[in-house]
Amino acid sequence: MNARYDLVLRGGEMIDPAQRVRGRFDVAISKGKVAAVAPSLPADAGGFNVDVKGMLVVPGLVDIHTHFYNKVMLLGCDPDTSFLPVGVTTSVDAGSSGWRTWAGLRDFVIANSRTRLYAFIHLSGVGLLPPELTDLSQVQVEETAECIAADRDVIVGIKLRVTSPGGTGEANAIPALEKARETADRAGSRIITHVGRSPIPLAQVVERLKPGDIVTHTFHGFTNTILDERGRVRREMVEARSRGVLFDVGHANVWFDAPIARAAIEQGFMPDTLSTDYTSQERTAGRTRYMITLLDVMSTFLALGMPLDRVISAVTDRPAAAIGKGGQFGSLKVGMPADIAVLELADRPVTYRDNNGQPVEAGRTFQHVITLREGAKVA
Ligand SMILES: [Zn+2]
Repeated sequence: MNARYDLVLRGGEMIDPAQRVRGRFDVAISKGKVAAVAPSLPADAGGFNVDVKGMLVVPGLVDIHTHFYNKVMLLGCDPDTSFLPVGVTTSVDAGSSGWRTWAGLRDFVIANSRTRLYAFIHLSGVGLLPPELTDLSQVQVEETAECIAADRDVIVGIKLRVTSPGGTGEANAIPALEKARETADRAGSRIITHVGRSPIPLAQVVERLKPGDIVTHTFHGFTNTILDERGRVRREMVEARSRGVLFDVGHANVWFDAPIARAAIEQGFMPDTLSTDYTSQERTAGRTRYMITLLDVMSTFLALGMPLDRVISAVTDRPAAAIGKGGQFGSLKVGMPADIAVLELADRPVTYRDNNGQPVEAGRTFQHVITLREGAKVA
């Protein structure tokens, strides 16, 4: 007989924070979309049936801080081979290109990848290249705003790096934030700002951010962290969050300090989104920095006490909403694109190390099983 659906994932533990649904469900897929979700679909409903009992079935993962201007930016990774094998079906480049170099990222990388890709463009016209924002003649507010307006479906905001050395440096930190503000307001878009190794107190950064803007590298451990002298999350961070400013991880190992993250989470200050700041592995080999996948970041924050549903939300519906794409992906609601990650939460302990070598002991870690992109198995 004719199967009603192309594929049914049977008996997995589905977690879909967007719908506040968690439990054992069969998930049916047809024509690249989620076609049905039910506790038990008829045995002959699927053309293909995959038994995923004991596994997690979650929306395809969304990583909103990566660098995939492959072969142009020095550390740009290849998106499909970096993301799909770990369940990431949507990824956002954080400022590798600026308005002058954007067309190449769009036409050579984004248009030719299986992964669903978006980008923040850099406030500096040439992207993430020296002199970056230590020279503000790199900034053209009008051209950047026009670039965003012309590709509004793919460009989801403006990136700047409030950092020193490099980035804005100290002298240009506030002027650059003000230029970013002006550009974002003119384009009707959002800011994502790097705060790792910030040369200015974070209070001076967040006071220039509006609801929907994003702070990345929230748990970095260099100068000007989110904690005050008493180890409390700074009042200004809590206030910024309550006005709708979002806090992202941007892990990359170098921007992750385990004691700071642990303290913040104990105080209830959990990240809105988990992300990797993923770059190319090959070219970083031999350096102390090692690449960490989104599954590693999820395992780390689960070990730090973030509840499972909240971890899944921070890599599915929350990042989708954070880039203005809520309701388009990041959920397994019927009719959504069948971007799906099948994962195992295995008793496979890993000791993760932060930038200072401090350990996070993860007893249970996320392991990849299957990635579907619009219903097709891609990893
Ligand atoms: Zn980055």
